[in-house]
Amino acid sequence: MRLILLGPPGAGKGTQAERLVENYKITQLSTGEMLRAAVAARTPVGIKAKEIMERGELVSDEIVCAIISDRIDEADCANGFILDGFPRTIAQAEALTGILADKGLKLDAVVEIRVDEGILLERIERRAAESADGPRADDNAEALKKRLEVYSAQTAPLIEFYGKSGELKTVDGMQDIEGVAASIKEALSS
Ligand code: AMP
Repeated sequence: MRLILLGPPGAGKGTQAERLVENYKITQLSTGEMLRAAVAARTPVGIKAKEIMERGELVSDEIVCAIISDRIDEADCANGFILDGFPRTIAQAEALTGILADKGLKLDAVVEIRVDEGILLERIERRAAESADGPRADDNAEALKKRLEVYSAQTAPLIEFYGKSGELKTVDGMQDIEGVAASIKEALSS
């Protein structure tokens, strides 16, 4: 099973990806997590990405596409994967089509978790307060505002992109965690 999870910051992509990992025995590929690890390890990519991420802007398509292309080749992706936070631009989506075609792979579905924007700030504030590792550098009101603007301008167009190709399945992300998980399961089995 190869999936994309689409939705704004705070929609619950990470939480639902964890469920899918368990249910389908596939690997979660979060470009945000990979970039945060690169920042912490001060790799060349991390050094480039740090300030961009803190501002809530997007790291270059070139960097994230290279990371994903390499990561998909690893053994733990053989049974499938969930892309969480990638693609985030039309250019990344087009690049992904090429990356998968070159590897002889196909996407099974794109799941959009749809939520009302009004609840996102509250959810992100809660995540920042509850995180065992302390708040993320970009979980603050200013960076979130930017991340939401970036989502509307650059990532939301992917809903139409994948709607046209017939891969899109939209679920109601305003339900509780169990409800969203059940809706995703149902969408994937239909
Ligand atoms: P996330 O954990 O998915 O919310 O990502 C955190 C931050 O990492 C984003 O605000 C971006 O700065 C960066 N990032 C993650 N994924 C991507 C991507 N696919 N393209 C560009 N930047 C990304």
